[in-house]
Amino acid sequence: MPDLAPTVAVIGGGQLARMMAEPAAALGIPLRLLAEAEGVSAAQVIPDTIIGDHRDIEALRKVTSGAAVVTFDHEHVPTDHLHALADAGVAVRPAPEALVHAQDKAVMRERLTQLGLPCPRWAVVHSPEEIEALGLPCVLKVTRGGYDGRGVWIIRSHHDAEEAFAQSEATGARVLAEELVDFHRELAAVVARSPSGQAAAYPIVASTQLDGICHEVVSPAPDLAPELATRAQQLALTIAKELDVVGILAVELFETRDGRVLVNELAMRPHNTGHWTQDGAVTSQFENHLRAVLDLPLGSPAPRAPWTVMVNILGGPAEQVGRLYDGYPHALARDPRLRVHLYGKELRPGRKVGHVNAYGEDLEDCLARARHAAAWFRGDLGNESE
Ligand code: ADP
Repeated sequence: MPDLAPTVAVIGGGQLARMMAEPAAALGIPLRLLAEAEGVSAAQVIPDTIIGDHRDIEALRKVTSGAAVVTFDHEHVPTDHLHALADAGVAVRPAPEALVHAQDKAVMRERLTQLGLPCPRWAVVHSPEEIEALGLPCVLKVTRGGYDGRGVWIIRSHHDAEEAFAQSEATGARVLAEELVDFHRELAAVVARSPSGQAAAYPIVASTQLDGICHEVVSPAPDLAPELATRAQQLALTIAKELDVVGILAVELFETRDGRVLVNELAMRPHNTGHWTQDGAVTSQFENHLRAVLDLPLGSPAPRAPWTVMVNILGGPAEQVGRLYDGYPHALARDPRLRVHLYGKELRPGRKVGHVNAYGEDLEDCLARARHAAAWFRGDLGNESE
C-alpha cells in the first residue's frame, strides 16, 4: 500500500468537489465522493465514488466509513444526519451547528443579529399583510433551499406580495422578508478557518450578479476604501470564529452607498466568489478548504498578481450545445496567460459550466481578456475570428 494521507469524504458531485480534486492530488490526499449520479462533474475526476442520495443516512455512512473527515460540495445534507455521523465518531467539517447557518437564512439572520453584526432589516413573515406592514419595496426569500436567485423575489406591490408569498410558502420553508438594500455593489469576503483556530482571509472581491447568478468577480474590489476592506475581512473572521466554522466561509456582502457593509448570506464551502484564487492567489480556496478540514496549517491567501478577474462561462444558446471544446483553439491561442476551468457539465442555457481567470498588472486588460474568453465559449461572439 502506498503511504496515503487520511481520506476526505466529500458529499455532492458538483464542480466544487471536482475542483477540490486538483489540490487533493497535489497533496496526496485521497478523496471519496458521494455523487448523486454516475458521470456528474466531480465523479468524472474522483475514482473513489459512491452513487447515492445525500438525504440517505445509509449512503452517508457508507461514504464516510474509514474516512478521517467528511466535508461538502453543497449545504443540503440534513443536519439530523450530520449529528448522527458525528455521534458515530466521524469528524463533520463544518459541523452541523455551524452549517445550519448556511442552510437556513432565518437562523443565520437571528444569530448574526444576536452577535450585533450588520444585516439588512429583516423579519420572518407569515402572510402577505405582514410583508406589506414592513414597508415596500422589500425582498422576500425562502429560508431554505434557494440558490442562484431562485427563491428570491423583489416585492413592489400588493400583487407581488401575494404572488411571491404563495410561491414561497409552497416550498414548506419559513419565509423571510428583508429591506431592499440600495447597494453600491456586491462584495464577498472569503476566509478559511481550521479546527485549531488558525484563519486566513483572502482579499475582498467585488462580484457582479445577473438574475441572481454570479457572473464576474474582480479581486481585489476596485477602489474599495482600505478601512472598509479591513472591516469586511474582520467581519468574516468574526463570523467564522463565533459560528465555529471549519473550512472555507464565504460571506456575501452588500456595500451600501453610505460606506457600510451588510451581510447578505453565508456559504460554508468553496464559493464562486473564490474561484479567482485558483490562479490569482498563492493558495486556492479549494486547497485551503482541504487543509482546514484536515487541521493542517493553512496556505497563504496572498494574491499572486495585482489583479485577477474571474468570469463564469454560462451555457449559451441551444445551438452551441457540445461546442465548448471547439472554443479552445481560439481562446488559448489568443491569450496564452488565460486560465480555463471547465466542469464537465452538459450545456444548458444559463447553466454555469466553467469559468476563466485572467490575472495581471492592468485591471482593464484582465477584464477584457476574461470577458472575451467567456463570451467566446458561450458562443456570444458568433463566428468572428478577430
Ligand atoms: P441565493 O441564495 O439565491 O444566492 P441571495 O440571498 O444571495 O440568494 O439573493 C440573490 C441576489 O438577490 C443577491 O445576490 C442580490 O443581488 C439580491 N438580493 C438579495 N437580498 C437582497 C436585499 N435584501 N436587498 C437587495 N438585493 C438583494
